[in-house]
Amino acid sequence: MSTFLGQISEIPGISVDRFNGANLESSAFFLSHCHSDHMKGLDSSFFRHLIESDKYLYCSPISKAFLMGIIFGLPEDRIREIELSIPKIIRYTVLEGEASVVTSLTVSTSPTGHCPGSVMFIFTKDEKSILYSGDFRINPKDLPKLNPLNHKIDGKNQAKKFNTIYLDTTFLSLDFLSFPSRLESCEVICDAVRKWLDSNSKNVVIIECSALYGSEHLFMEMFRLLNLKIHVKDKIYSNYMRISELAKCITLDGRDSRIHACTFKWFGQKNLTCRSDVNYENILTIVPSVLRWKGKNTSCVSEYDTRNTQRLYVCYSAHSSYEELRAFVDYFKPDKIVPCVCPSESTTEFHQLLSELMSYQMKLDVSDQVSESFNLEPPFKRVFKKPFVSKYFADDDNENDEL
Ligand SMILES: [Zn+2]
Ligand SMILES: [Zn+2]
Repeated sequence: MSTFLGQISEIPGISVDRFNGANLESSAFFLSHCHSDHMKGLDSSFFRHLIESDKYLYCSPISKAFLMGIIFGLPEDRIREIELSIPKIIRYTVLEGEASVVTSLTVSTSPTGHCPGSVMFIFTKDEKSILYSGDFRINPKDLPKLNPLNHKIDGKNQAKKFNTIYLDTTFLSLDFLSFPSRLESCEVICDAVRKWLDSNSKNVVIIECSALYGSEHLFMEMFRLLNLKIHVKDKIYSNYMRISELAKCITLDGRDSRIHACTFKWFGQKNLTCRSDVNYENILTIVPSVLRWKGKNTSCVSEYDTRNTQRLYVCYSAHSSYEELRAFVDYFKPDKIVPCVCPSESTTEFHQLLSELMSYQMKLDVSDQVSESFNLEPPFKRVFKKPFVSKYFADDDNENDEL
């Protein structure tokens, strides 16, 4: 759950993933992806503010499509799309003393593997280069393949140098050392689905998602591996239909499908509401989850409920594990890290792990006889105000049961 307050201290005048309070003084806004903890303040009054002050919101084309679906009457011309990997120059104003001065920065985006349309932002201004990771899950082996994050030197990609990385520290904890890749998790899910469906023609599967949105990658992989459409909840169907890669994987007709993501976990529902012809003994419920694996060995990707063999838990994460975060930071070796997800109570372990992420810098500092080796921002305060979109776009991986 993002606790980042929005302003990028190195580049005054811009705000990312937070659209209320002091951020309204910014003059260019960026949205990394459509999950509620990154959309605080993003409501119709914010868009009125954009119109009145002649400001813009920048995001990926897919995030724009999502936004147009969830906020009625949105002024489309106030949302500007940034295409992946194509640097864009953005002009905005910044206050210098009493005067507003027009200035510019370059921004490019890179995919984050978190949810459809999710991007990282690379901001370049003057001599400064800042990476805002947003929520991400990237196999460290793929980092050299992501052009916006690399320089081409002698035909080979090499990590760009960033002054600061604003980092998704959701699982910066020794309790979440490593996760199976999402493909591994999806294959385990699909194997279980295949076996269950093949064993009886009346059998169906429920995918129990803890939030309304957040399982899109899983649905797309399941469709690719099983060639079966997934019955999704009515209220998300029209939004999914805006995205062609997702539209082909889903259906609105429960009778049409043997895989159902249409049930609501928080009602404790065990049967299908879309079909009355399916008995409980014909339902296998699969629960993609990370928190169940907290502190456990994740080489065991799935486990059945000890009291119910029709309930299968599968370790599945759309955020990086501790080891992936280490590899990410070690690849770029930034001068500074700002954690974007801080525990509600600032723990010693969290700060120790943050320091360890920067251990390459410590080595440098030791040789330079510098005693203050870490350059970490203080943790941000959690804000518990409920965002207006919370029940629509909560992030699945947070297993936010209040939805
Ligand atoms: Zn259904
Ligand atoms: Zn997210």
